Amino acid sequence: MSDRLTKDKTEYERLIAFRSAAIADGWENRPHGQLFKEGYLMDIHAEESDDWFLSGAEIYIWGPDGLALKNYPKEYDWEAIKQRARECHFCGTDTGHMQRVCFANKSCDKCYPAAIKRLEVPGWDD
Ligand SMILES: [Zn+2]
Repeated sequence: MSDRLTKDKTEYERLIAFRSAAIADGWENRPHGQLFKEGYLMDIHAEESDDWFLSGAEIYIWGPDGLALKNYPKEYDWEAIKQRARECHFCGTDTGHMQRVCFANKSCDKCYPAAIKRLEVPGWDD
């Protein structure tokens, strides 16, 4: 069984509630289920199948800088999402200056040297 599948119906319902709250808060619903607001992009994968096995029950959010958020809030919270978009993926601080690492990670200046050493191994962008 893939680790992207779950039998946990409450997790599925949490994602559906997250999505509904986002739409109620003004996120624009575009084709393919992606949501947009003020430069942010949200993609919620929550598919229900016959036996409650869910495929890709996850939330992905990218900030206006095109970089992914880590540790998005469990329940929809616009202020928390904007705060997360300012935080370093490695230490969680908000220093106001972030650099891209690998595909869509962001790092503060302090974490940057270790982050590129760990993630940008030879062949990472092949
Ligand atoms: Zn950091």
